[in-house]
Amino acid sequence: MKLSHELISRRSFLATSSKASLAMGLVGTGVLSACSNDAKGDAQSILATSFTQTPLSFDFSALEPHIDAMTMEIHFTKHAAGYAKNLNDAIGEENVDTNKPLEDVLANISQYSTKMRNNGGGHYNHELFWQIMTPDAAERPEGDLSAAIDESFGSFEAFVQEFEKAAATRFGSGWAWLVVGSDNKLMIGSTPNQDNPLMDISDFKGTPLLGLDVWEHAYYLNYQNRRADYISAFWNIINWNKVAERFSASM
Ligand code: MN
Repeated sequence: MKLSHELISRRSFLATSSKASLAMGLVGTGVLSACSNDAKGDAQSILATSFTQTPLSFDFSALEPHIDAMTMEIHFTKHAAGYAKNLNDAIGEENVDTNKPLEDVLANISQYSTKMRNNGGGHYNHELFWQIMTPDAAERPEGDLSAAIDESFGSFEAFVQEFEKAAATRFGSGWAWLVVGSDNKLMIGSTPNQDNPLMDISDFKGTPLLGLDVWEHAYYLNYQNRRADYISAFWNIINWNKVAERFSASM
């Protein structure tokens, strides 16, 4: 019952999200200003995040040996579920209009509580993380995304090296990102804790295409202190079709 309720909520949210209220938020960032009206509607749906946890599209064990089943289960059902629950407490306490996407809250996060910042960021980051991983991963991106990576970083190999460096050198807990910046260029960076590049308080800003969780809870059961090995394994499970879809929607 809970699942079908969430699916209905998500459906009605996505229907709402193609309306002007969402356009305000995303057009305000300049991200969608060059799109046609039809393309805008699609782009908004692709880039909009709801306030409830989306069911995983694969089994907890599906990403093995790169991410083990127990890590996935605890990560999804405890950590990520906790952020979603606490976010929903916070939106009730702070009168957030949930007809607008979570992205609107994040873009104005300086006006909300620390609870909203930590849990709104945590929920967004994990929803993206599950979406851009797959057991049926291609080795590398194709088409426009591949060309944009080559243009921005020199080559796919150079991109991988720069992303790995961002993930490895983020001190303590946080996330590494590939984003589309305000000038439509691809950029790599990282953020601390559950912050992300959509937040107005972030030093590193853009529309996230790809995010890697480098909190110890994301890898410690299998990799212990070897964060570098977890980062290397990530390249085997990226859903490049989804990343490319987000890239197209961001341009
Ligand atoms: Mn996490």
